Amino acid sequence: MTAKLVNLETVTPAPTNRVVGPPPPPDVLLDVRGLKTHFHVMDGTVPAVDGVDFQLKRGETLGLVGESGCGKSVTSLTIMRLIDIPPGEIVAGEIWFDGQEILSLPMSQMRKIRGASMSMIFQEPMTSLNPVFTVGNQIAEAVKAHRDVSNREASNRAAEMLEAVGIASPKRMAKRYPHELSGGMRQRVMIAMALSCDPKLVIADEPTTALDVTIQAQILELIKALQERTGSALLLITHDLAVVAETVQRMAVMYAGRIVESGPVEDVLLRPQHPYTLGLLSSIPSLRKRGRELNVIKGVVPNPFRMPPGCKFEPRCPYAWDKCREADPELLALANAEVQARCYLHTPDGAPRLAEFNRVANAAVADESR
Ligand code: SF4
Repeated sequence: MTAKLVNLETVTPAPTNRVVGPPPPPDVLLDVRGLKTHFHVMDGTVPAVDGVDFQLKRGETLGLVGESGCGKSVTSLTIMRLIDIPPGEIVAGEIWFDGQEILSLPMSQMRKIRGASMSMIFQEPMTSLNPVFTVGNQIAEAVKAHRDVSNREASNRAAEMLEAVGIASPKRMAKRYPHELSGGMRQRVMIAMALSCDPKLVIADEPTTALDVTIQAQILELIKALQERTGSALLLITHDLAVVAETVQRMAVMYAGRIVESGPVEDVLLRPQHPYTLGLLSSIPSLRKRGRELNVIKGVVPNPFRMPPGCKFEPRCPYAWDKCREADPELLALANAEVQARCYLHTPDGAPRLAEFNRVANAAVADESR
């Protein structure tokens, strides 16, 4: 067993000589603009995040969705400034959090924000908790790192948080080591630690992936209830559309390091506007589809060293035409201005294909909701 201990002294130093734009309105807690995080490896450069823009309002919940390798976890680690540099590099972009542009902050200031105003629930609690300290001790340390409190007050806060996440006999359980707890209990401890300083933003990176299905539902309910109670904003990162449908208000779909569609969750799931979103929705298995061939998105995610020159989804897209191979489309605001899609179907040239896309999308959604 190896604990994932991040050396905060070495990660993501502040980029120098950056010119940033004006701050977002006060109701916007997190504003990510044109973010690009690349990794320089022996075979070349991997553009893991390649132009990501989104906003999260205070108290709002946003799901960042996509298959493995699409850049969603790198986006969240960049926001937390936990990218190893090198091999990583934040090539471009701005991240505004609570009125400050945090990519410009020195690491000493970033450490004060991280864990206090902004915290993260990692996907694998067994490797994120320290095996040689009790869980109560780890939560108390997180509290002491950001608040001027005595050891006793920090221990009391740890027990209070363990109780808040539904752990019975919290004072007794605080004395347990991570290996003495079940997977679900460990994830509750991670949530208790993340929320122990009343953060304004919680980033949950696949918080239920390592858990079995019944515990998954309990943990999602818990995150949602605590988020509503504390008023913190939630950025939920997941590959699971069902989790998003249950948990968040807005969602953004990522593909090959970019957001390809975003909007209120019911709009995106009931009226998808991008062929990749439609492909994801159509490939959800269900008992109703038993006996039928399972839909899949043909092809594979593009090789990061040989990205297609135009739309990154073009090699897999059943609606592609010549224009899609020429240049990457911008994220376009659609008629329902809350929804955006990065697709030429929503330009005048795409109108004939859009009609066919809408017909297939309506049939797929009707099939899902039957
Ligand atoms: Fe498909 Fe073209 Fe839209 Fe890309 S821009 S998703 S290739 S239709």
